[in-house]
Amino acid sequence: KVRGRFGPLIGSIDEGTSSTRFLIFSANTAEVLTYHQLPITHITPKEGWVEQDPCVILQSVIETINVTCDNLKKLDIDPVDIVAVGITNQRETTVVWDSKTGKPLYNALVWLDMRTSTTVDKILLNGKRNKNFLKPLCGLPVSTYFSAVKLRWLMDNVEEVQVAIKENRCMFGTIDTWLIWNLTGGINGGLHITDVTNASRTMLMNIDTLQWDPQLCKVFGIPINILPTIKSSSEIYGYLSESVLCGVPISGCLGDQQAALVGQMCFHQGQAKSTYGTGCFLLYNTGTVIVQSSHGLLTTIAYQLGPNKPAFYALEGSVAVAGVAMQWLHDNLEILEHAKDSGEIAQGVDKVGEVSFVPAFSGLYAPYWRKDARSVICGLTEETKPAHLIKAALESVAFQTRDILEAMALDCGYPLSKLLVDGGMTANNYLMQIQADYCGIPVVRPLMTETTALGAAIAAGYASGVEVWDLENIQSVSSDVFTPAITENQRDMKYARWKMAIARSLDWADD
Ligand code: ADP
Repeated sequence: KVRGRFGPLIGSIDEGTSSTRFLIFSANTAEVLTYHQLPITHITPKEGWVEQDPCVILQSVIETINVTCDNLKKLDIDPVDIVAVGITNQRETTVVWDSKTGKPLYNALVWLDMRTSTTVDKILLNGKRNKNFLKPLCGLPVSTYFSAVKLRWLMDNVEEVQVAIKENRCMFGTIDTWLIWNLTGGINGGLHITDVTNASRTMLMNIDTLQWDPQLCKVFGIPINILPTIKSSSEIYGYLSESVLCGVPISGCLGDQQAALVGQMCFHQGQAKSTYGTGCFLLYNTGTVIVQSSHGLLTTIAYQLGPNKPAFYALEGSVAVAGVAMQWLHDNLEILEHAKDSGEIAQGVDKVGEVSFVPAFSGLYAPYWRKDARSVICGLTEETKPAHLIKAALESVAFQTRDILEAMALDCGYPLSKLLVDGGMTANNYLMQIQADYCGIPVVRPLMTETTALGAAIAAGYASGVEVWDLENIQSVSSDVFTPAITENQRDMKYARWKMAIARSLDWADD
């Protein structure tokens, strides 16, 4: 078939924690031709509870597809050139729905949600079990973060879920699963599937066999028949039956952080990237080898680009609060009008009145894994102004990344030589510079920052039967580089002060 001037096109659904986007990539140039974005609101019925409406998420996906295709037409490009669609999504977020009606049985429990704190205690038999006791099987510590714990809470607390399980009409999924089921037909034969990367965040998949693990399901008391089928990250799963793209194959699926790793083309052992969005996530490709961390990192699947291809693994350092801290300064303290102003404000603050801020709104994730850690602001003086707090919030992101890099160097035996970055927050030049300063290595930001969406597009375009992309031939993008500009001594002093603030955050334990 003769294609338009951009050659075959790949669509990418990017369903993040704060917004849904649909982007169109040209397979010839790996450029974004057009996109549409819609915000997704959080529902917070109680302190620490974070929900989203699965139907709103689904509708936003369909609408962004339709509007993006209209945009294409305005650019005189025919949507018929879209040969495949990939999906990337916020991970761990948990949805349960009724297979007969297609309706959600509860709102989606978002990964940030902390209501499962007591569920974690129950699973750990109030401290009799170590939080890492399942790590050899699933690579993860028991934490409020992962889907199995959220699913257990839903089974314990929501009658509709209990009844639906008894009547054999309960379906579980992460956001990828919910979307693919609905987009391929829903109650009329939708596919109940997930990919290995998303499955590796549930705590129910065995990272060696890449299958649901009966022992893990038993620990959480989860019936295996409500779980989706696990597929590779790159194959034709099925065809869209919703939106203006009916009939186009869905052929790529990756959790958002894994998609960014693929989009940054970290296909070799030893390459790493960090994505700064709602949270901050550093993934380090360990090749086809499973590396178990002894310093608080997660072992996770990086990607499996085809059903007969090997799985690649990654060590991951997850930070719950990055962009969230900006939103908190805006929504709760009302001292920051726009997140994008934060760099300029921080740049201009006086040295006098500086503070340290540990934003532990969801406890502390890697490398601490302490759900009882609390946020602290240390060092307030009479001179402290809102700008100091804004600066400290940006610094907290850079320091938490340093915490992860320290753990990674200990697990891998040698430090990283450069850090590839992406995500909404990397637009902040000030943050990028202090990141280089505080870690002492160059920070490399691609000019094309849509790496998460590109990763899903690569998985979709590479799939057998689509094959418009070859991993070796994708154009690599040019980048901005931020190099460290402070002395080692200054770096160490700043980091020591951060560690003191962390100690206070961990000391605040109330359970
Ligand atoms: P996600 O994929 O998790 O939904 P994004 O990658 O879209 O997130 O990033 C959005 C987050 O980044 C928001 O929390 C926002 O407050 C923050 N953010 C966006 N731009 C900036 C900026 N220039 N400086 C600081 N924070 C920013």
